[in-house]
Amino acid sequence: MPMKDDLELLLKLQVIDYDRGELERSKEYIPDMMENLKREIVEIEDTFVSNEKELSKARILQNSLELEVSALQDQLKKLKSMMMAIKTNKEYDALVSQIDSVRESINEKETTLLEIIERVEILESGIDDLKKKSIETKKQNDDQLSILQEKMDSVGSKVQIKDDERQNIIVRVPKRMMSVYERIHKNRGGSVVITVKKRACGACFKALPPHRIQELKRGDQMITCDNCGRLLVWQDGQSE
Ligand SMILES: [Zn+2]
Repeated sequence: MPMKDDLELLLKLQVIDYDRGELERSKEYIPDMMENLKREIVEIEDTFVSNEKELSKARILQNSLELEVSALQDQLKKLKSMMMAIKTNKEYDALVSQIDSVRESINEKETTLLEIIERVEILESGIDDLKKKSIETKKQNDDQLSILQEKMDSVGSKVQIKDDERQNIIVRVPKRMMSVYERIHKNRGGSVVITVKKRACGACFKALPPHRIQELKRGDQMITCDNCGRLLVWQDGQSE
């Protein structure tokens, strides 16, 4: 078999090896992606649940403060009405100071109440969106998760297919060429067989002298790049 056909086989082999490598890498990154998707679901659910809890607490607090303020206002009204029955200066002073103290309490509680009302409004305005977002995120991420799970489940058989394809090619490649391929693959990683581009190595772009180009065009021997050591191939119909 001509050398050119052997190199064509190696080109096919390196595509298979690339795909196989991608499958192996997916075993590493798919579980990470799945973890992230699961974490996102939990985080947004937790935020929703904690906001809902805070809202319900704040509403209870708002309610009890409103009752307290209303009770204090009743008390204030009663004290004011007692003013009419005052007989001595001493009684008057005592009543005024009582009224002042109730007013002060009302002011304090109303300030707190306003803060609580503001917080309730903020939480209320966000809670529906948060719930919607939580449901949507769960749905979207669950869809993604089932796709990724399917990929994970099938990766083993896909690797097996690539191994079979690899084996079918290896048996047709001369041993010497195969060992060159394996060596470059191991040492350099990535592509092993490189097409010449613009009279240079397509991987490292080192220019090739004219006699090398002639040798490559004849295609009757293995030629590696002086610079990066990869196997060079001249493709038919390629312009110089
Ligand atoms: Zn090179």
